Amino acid sequence: MAKTIISVKDLHKKYGSFHAVKGISFDVFEGEIFGLLGPNGAGKSTTLEIIETLREKTSGTIEVAGFDLDKDPNEIKKLIGVQLQTSGYYPNLTLAELIVLFAGLYNQPVNPMELLETVNLTDKAKSKYKELSGGQKQRFSIATTLINHPSIIFLDEPTTGLDPQARRNLWDLIKEIRLKGTTVIITTHYMDEAEVLCDRVAIIDKGKVIALDSPDKLIDDLVASGFERPKQVKNANLEDVFIHLTGHELRAEN
Ligand code: ADP
Ligand code: MG
Repeated sequence: MAKTIISVKDLHKKYGSFHAVKGISFDVFEGEIFGLLGPNGAGKSTTLEIIETLREKTSGTIEVAGFDLDKDPNEIKKLIGVQLQTSGYYPNLTLAELIVLFAGLYNQPVNPMELLETVNLTDKAKSKYKELSGGQKQRFSIATTLINHPSIIFLDEPTTGLDPQARRNLWDLIKEIRLKGTTVIITTHYMDEAEVLCDRVAIIDKGKVIALDSPDKLIDDLVASGFERPKQVKNANLEDVFIHLTGHELRAEN
């Protein structure tokens, strides 16, 4: 039986008179990769930031690991890993120094090299954040979510703007983190990403959940409803060609 670790019920968020989140409900199970999937402006980041205790909700109830967000936000903060905004700050510190700094903010002992090892960045320990490629920046920001050994991590569009190798690389990293028992909530507007990465997805549009299930089940339901793709799809796409030609392995620049 799947155990619920996050429960969101009838969540609403208004920015002034604009109703951005209109009664969203979903449960996240312990140990799964759960996707919030939707176009820009759907309300994904708003929902995520409210659960992260970083943004006020207008109404609704949220429980994380049995703690009520309204009553025990500090207990929730101890359990979660949130991507820190690293860009622009402390431009002269190295990655190892930044990790020590963040660990100090969390009041957590940390071995910077061990943490950099989990995201494959040991060779960049002495580099500055601004010197990293897009994929490396994302891997570093994922490392910062792991500093306090969280039960749950939140990733808001971690692969936006990355090239195909760097994206696949990040997918592998996210799967590895989940294998260690961490629950992952990720937002994305890439459907292919959700399909390969997420155990279950909530599709959000205009502030409402319009579907919630495993990607497989959602596709099967659509096919069962009589849907057919208008033309025969090839067994590969241009991205497959690109990956096949350029290789999938970890590269120095991603
Ligand atoms: P997503 O992450 O799915 O792209 P967001 O949660 O960022 O969506 O935004 C949902 C809607 O709320 C958008 O229309 C956005 O413009 C609006 N919005 C987000 N943050 C604010 C804010 N601080 N003030 C006013 N409107 C906001
Ligand atoms: Mg967003």
